[in-house]
Amino acid sequence: MRFGALEAGGTKMVCAVGNEKGEILDRVSIPTETPDITMPKLLEYFQGQSVEALGIGCFGPVDLDPASGTYGFITTTPKLAWRNCDICGYFRERLKVPVGFDTDVNGSMLGEATWGCARGLDTAIYITVGTGVGVGVLAGGRLLHGMQHPEGGHILLPRRADDAYEGKCPYHKTCMEGLAAGPAIEARWGKKAAELSDRPEVWELEAHYLAYAITNYMMILSPQKIILGGGVMHQEQLMPLIRKKVTDMLGGYIQTEALSDMDSYIVPASLNDNQGILGALKLGMDAKSAAVTCS
Ligand code: ADP
Ligand code: ZN
Repeated sequence: MRFGALEAGGTKMVCAVGNEKGEILDRVSIPTETPDITMPKLLEYFQGQSVEALGIGCFGPVDLDPASGTYGFITTTPKLAWRNCDICGYFRERLKVPVGFDTDVNGSMLGEATWGCARGLDTAIYITVGTGVGVGVLAGGRLLHGMQHPEGGHILLPRRADDAYEGKCPYHKTCMEGLAAGPAIEARWGKKAAELSDRPEVWELEAHYLAYAITNYMMILSPQKIILGGGVMHQEQLMPLIRKKVTDMLGGYIQTEALSDMDSYIVPASLNDNQGILGALKLGMDAKSAAVTCS
């Protein structure tokens, strides 16, 4: 069977067609402009692909409550043109196939849980550190939604005493995203994150904030694995610093077999930057199965 997958991002929309084995058969990338311009282009792509269902992993916040009148909408995004966009309904009505929908980071988590390094796990988290920070959560073998969906990128963090940067989040200033996303690094140090590779103090501070947040996620969710992706994680020096700082911050309080090997507990994304689109593919497959079961 052929399934459509859409990874809807703030700068680009990745559209793909894949099968149940997680093989991507075709893919295009379309720049994100306004819904009026971009949505018809996405529709045209999927209309030409005869897909059985579509899965969408979307930037947010989004409404994931099936009982809500705005289920499948993008809600309070700072990208104003996309606010209150019924992205899910748009495709469901026009393609006339089941549409699966979740956040982009939950999508990446699902991709890793289905075809990547979180296969077979019950509870895990996927953290992306890029233009923003997002956290996808697998809990009890399912993607966690709750009241809306987790917003782990916006947990409040104390600013470290030696950090004079005020924080970039328009809502919270010094939340995780406000202190540690790519734009915060650039604003704090006056250069793009990718051009700061040779400044150890940049990555020591970045690792501090990431480790602080990770330690808190561990205490709350007890994940069996923590997966890190996103543009900022291309700095390979970060991973060992984060593992060391998490170990120090835990202070020996949690002692499990998983933590005896930090290198396989806190890991980079394993699907060559395909975790998001593969997760969207699985959302489409699951929507199809649910529709078959219901009818
Ligand atoms: P997005 O979050 O928009 O989907 P990315 O995950 O690629 O996209 O994240 C983009 C952010 O990552 C930018 O803020 C950029 O500065 C940062 N970034 C990209 N490449 C690197 C790199 N090699 N080292 C550090 N930061 C990087
Ligand atoms: Zn915030």
